[in-house]
Amino acid sequence: MKLLIAAFLILFTNNLFAQKDPKTTEVWAPEPKVITPAARTGDAPSDAIVLFNGKDASAWEHEKGGDVKWTIADNALTVKSGSGNIQTKQKFGDCQLHIEWRTPAEVKGEGQGRGNSGIFLMGRYELQILDNYNNKTYPNGQAASMYKQSMPLVNACRPPGEWQVYDVIFTAPRFSDNGSLLEPARITVIQNGVLVQNNTTIWGPTLYIGVPVYEKHAAKESIALQDHGNPTSFRNIWIREL
Ligand code: MG
Repeated sequence: MKLLIAAFLILFTNNLFAQKDPKTTEVWAPEPKVITPAARTGDAPSDAIVLFNGKDASAWEHEKGGDVKWTIADNALTVKSGSGNIQTKQKFGDCQLHIEWRTPAEVKGEGQGRGNSGIFLMGRYELQILDNYNNKTYPNGQAASMYKQSMPLVNACRPPGEWQVYDVIFTAPRFSDNGSLLEPARITVIQNGVLVQNNTTIWGPTLYIGVPVYEKHAAKESIALQDHGNPTSFRNIWIREL
């Protein structure tokens, strides 16, 4: 009995002590990997994969294979109308993507026809690029929408001809072995420093017509950029795998 009381007292006082000791809630291992952030916010940190540095599109290929036909000039990669979409040679799943884009200074067309391009995550899920500075279209098809799915929280577009930034945090969908969906894809997007998609659920692959339905695909896929017939430009593209 005495032993039991002693054991209880030890446990009780230990527990009391533990609750007052800040060290009990400190986690010291494992430590996050040390990386070097860029000197200028927006440039690639030390652990990023640079996909376009202004000079060289060798990380990209035509969506059907072969060389990229888009134009490289003035540190920018510009859509060559009619030459087709391009995609990364490397494949990615969960990622942080930084991409800068510019719609043409000379305004032509309206609605979906003005500076249209897009970023197809995993080749399927389109984050829209469009000149939506004083240009009306359906909101779930405007810039920073998940095309034909989720409209952006606000319209944070700069005028045509100015560089704009998307910082994207993307979580790939998860599928079971039999192909059923376990977890849909999710996306957070910051446009020009403004939150425009907040951990948004992606309903399935982007469709122009109809309601999307998930179909199982690989855990990593290429990221594609859209040729929608407008000379939209890109620069400073980098990615971090998560
Ligand atoms: Mg588009």
